[in-house]
Amino acid sequence: MQPERMPALFVGHGNPMNAIERNEFRRSWEELGRTLPKPKAVLCISAHWETQGVFLTASEKPETIHDFYGFPKALFDVRYPAPGDPALARRTKELIGSVDALLDPNRGLDHGAWSVLVAMYPDADVPVVQLSLDTTRRGTFHYALARELRPLRDEGVLILGSGNTVHNLRVFSFHDPEPLDWATHCDEEIKTRIVARDHEALMSYESLGPSAKLAVPTPEHYYPLLYILALQRESERLSFFNGTVVSSISMTSVLIGG
Ligand code: ZN
Repeated sequence: MQPERMPALFVGHGNPMNAIERNEFRRSWEELGRTLPKPKAVLCISAHWETQGVFLTASEKPETIHDFYGFPKALFDVRYPAPGDPALARRTKELIGSVDALLDPNRGLDHGAWSVLVAMYPDADVPVVQLSLDTTRRGTFHYALARELRPLRDEGVLILGSGNTVHNLRVFSFHDPEPLDWATHCDEEIKTRIVARDHEALMSYESLGPSAKLAVPTPEHYYPLLYILALQRESERLSFFNGTVVSSISMTSVLIGG
């Protein structure tokens, strides 16, 4: 029997502490895990695996990577022992015709992936593969590559983009969550374009207006969004959740087809 088409999901992951804090963001991820159809596997495109060239994790047992500093020990103690899925890595490689994607048998899961998945699938019973972000490439490259992943949704795979629409750590305040005006403005601009399906404009975040340089100072948190938008079919519904802007980071998240 053909599995039903899986939704596609972009999650604003924000602060790594969301992995262990009881807050609105984590609660929404738990809720998604309970309400979305259970996938056979997750293919995650995270802001925290930047590469030159395109890679896929191909380990049977990917380790949990703690790719941050200065956080409490409790966060470093988190292990997310979801299995890998080398067969899915090979299938994904086969689907990607635009570039020669390479399998990485050693790479583990970064916190962009596990901080969300530990809430969605706390039993770590859904295999996870990550697809890296070649940040030497522009938005059009990422969008086109994502289009090639479309068949996976009909094969029971949940494609998860993990980043943030607006993300500026340089001016981020841990003490004052009050949203900065330009961050709210840019986030609204991105949402308006998503609703209008103006993917052409979204591919070049530089066109977001005068605040673009502040909102997307580097593209790694923005590009995962393009992967999910590229998966939207003509007739598919889209909804937003977690629309809070915290200081200079937007938690805006997008569910397609759910
Ligand atoms: Zn991040």
